[in-house]
Amino acid sequence: MPEGDTLHHAAKRVGAALVGNEILAIETPQPRHRLDRWPERLAGRAVRGVDARGKHLFVRFEGDLTLHSHLRMGGRWSVYRPGQRWTRSPRRAWLVVRTAEHEVVQFDGPVLELMTDSRTRFDLRLAALGPDIVAAEFDESAFLRRLREDDPTRGIGDALLDQRILAGIGNLWKSEACFMAGVDPWRPAGQVSDEEVLEIVRLVRPAMQESARDGHQSREPQVYERAGRPCPRCGVRLRARGQGDDNRTTFWCPGCQS
Ligand SMILES: [Zn+2]
Repeated sequence: MPEGDTLHHAAKRVGAALVGNEILAIETPQPRHRLDRWPERLAGRAVRGVDARGKHLFVRFEGDLTLHSHLRMGGRWSVYRPGQRWTRSPRRAWLVVRTAEHEVVQFDGPVLELMTDSRTRFDLRLAALGPDIVAAEFDESAFLRRLREDDPTRGIGDALLDQRILAGIGNLWKSEACFMAGVDPWRPAGQVSDEEVLEIVRLVRPAMQESARDGHQSREPQVYERAGRPCPRCGVRLRARGQGDDNRTTFWCPGCQS
């Protein structure tokens, strides 16, 4: 599943392709959007900016219209040169934006909607998002307040995935973050001190920001998808188990995470 770093990187690439360049065509190939008339509504409008917040991406057009997208489990933003072979089938494209130099394609994107800028600020789902872990500025007190208002018996690993508490973290980074800080993801959030939860965030933020900038991590995950292998820190065999209401797999070391 794409996490916040992937979306911030996509926003950078899509923005570089679209901002300041004439939009030659917009296509919405899926039948669900056939009656929306986005190509007509967006015709002649320039793209002012592209930005990400958590796992959401916004393509902002002139004249107060914004395309909002969320990739869910398997969606992807890609940028190609005209004529370059796409890495996914054209049948899976939901949005295609063409300029003279680029084709920007959103594949397999179940959440794609055109809204006014003011709605992107007041939309309940978007307004409910917690502080963005990848953003340059991170409001630690807002994050702590949201965490402490939540169920204290919930495992900290599960709470970190809640986008209303912290926006942008997903399964990989949640597992890596708890490992970096030496905190057991199964410990109830109410038994993790403020210092410990801030340490989790402070350790993982630079790694996610690096990935957002470069498009990849400079080092392999230390625990994610490594169940059964020895812990790189203490040698104990790493474990994996589904956690929380959504049963998302958590990876951790029972030896050095307490
Ligand atoms: Zn260990």
